[in-house]
Amino acid sequence: MAPRRKTRQVNVGGVRIGGGAPVALQTMTSGHTYEIDKCIAQVQRLAKAGADLVRVAVPEKRDTEALPHILAASPVPIIADVHFHFQRALEAIEAGVHKIRLNPGNIQDRQQVNRVIAACKERGIPIRVGVNEGSVVERRDKQRRAAEKSTLEQDHAGNLIRLMLDKLADYLHIFDEHDFHDVVLAAKSIDPRIVIDANTAIAERFDYPLHLGVTHAGPPETGRIRSIAALGTLLANGIGDTVRISYAADPIHEVEDGKELLCCLGLRSRTEPELIACPTCGRIEVDLFKLVTDVRRSLAEIDVPLKVAVMGCVVNGPGECEGADVAIFAGKGKGIIYVQGEQKQTVPESQMLDALLAECRAFATRVKRGEAKLTGSDVTIAPPNPLPRPDGSVPLNVAGR
Ligand code: SF4
Repeated sequence: MAPRRKTRQVNVGGVRIGGGAPVALQTMTSGHTYEIDKCIAQVQRLAKAGADLVRVAVPEKRDTEALPHILAASPVPIIADVHFHFQRALEAIEAGVHKIRLNPGNIQDRQQVNRVIAACKERGIPIRVGVNEGSVVERRDKQRRAAEKSTLEQDHAGNLIRLMLDKLADYLHIFDEHDFHDVVLAAKSIDPRIVIDANTAIAERFDYPLHLGVTHAGPPETGRIRSIAALGTLLANGIGDTVRISYAADPIHEVEDGKELLCCLGLRSRTEPELIACPTCGRIEVDLFKLVTDVRRSLAEIDVPLKVAVMGCVVNGPGECEGADVAIFAGKGKGIIYVQGEQKQTVPESQMLDALLAECRAFATRVKRGEAKLTGSDVTIAPPNPLPRPDGSVPLNVAGR
């Protein structure tokens, strides 16, 4: 992991972005903001799942009119997403939102942009200024549009990134004129390689904090790979101050995956159990995938970051899950459970889930009471004795180890 890039810092309703602050995780509501109760319920659910910031779209006046209710009920700062209507931005600022997402290129009248910047400056509200692959090319001036499109045909990625940087520089010039520096920058594309290269170039040129995201990444099944490829690479290179993974799905998945990404890179502390599970192989003798699915679902009730391992056998399992606080090694019709390296019990397959969860809950309780500690990678698990088959014979996979 490269050291985090030094940037300016902005304050979004108490959540600091950039300047050495932890990488903030954000997401966006998926419904109409004017449907106040539904919007509030979703914001609260996303915040509970781990979102540090939640963005809401405000395309209509009835959306900005809903903001005071949403702000009053939200446990996290709210960002208003404004596209073409500067008036919505002013209304959102008046309502007290904590940050505005605004693309100056979408607001034709410079005086209108000036009014938004002045209002944000007066209230100390940061603005996220972004360029997207889908909208960075000039739309109104036909001649300029043709010229920009022509350069993209020659070298799409290279010239697109140059165009993104030039547009950002143009926008920042407007903000500089107002001596307004509460700015977060973003450059998004559906192509992870462009996201990586564009943000790397921006990081070299500007010292504003960066919002990372892959736009229109698709459903989680495919969008996950695109997003993690881009965001993981940038974060590992020390670039990125707030992230949003965007899926064509319930945004709770964006939060779950964003949290996991940040935890995996050591950029966020775990607050919930971490599950290790083997992929299974020819040695497997139980329905491990079902057990893993059931364990994962059940662990959600535990609010201590235990490391839990579900392994298919005792051959490689112990070595592969070093550091697990609670581990189970399954064999023919049975499972052996360990707690911090100590062999606790051997249970029949039908009881593996309940017994494992009981050990997890008991250990979590001891951790909370200060009677036990999470020891990270210090736990050593000695391989258990072979599990005999019901007829007393030793499985070949164990005997041959
Ligand atoms: S733990 Fe055992 S069953 Fe699972 S992948 Fe490793 S060797 Fe195969």
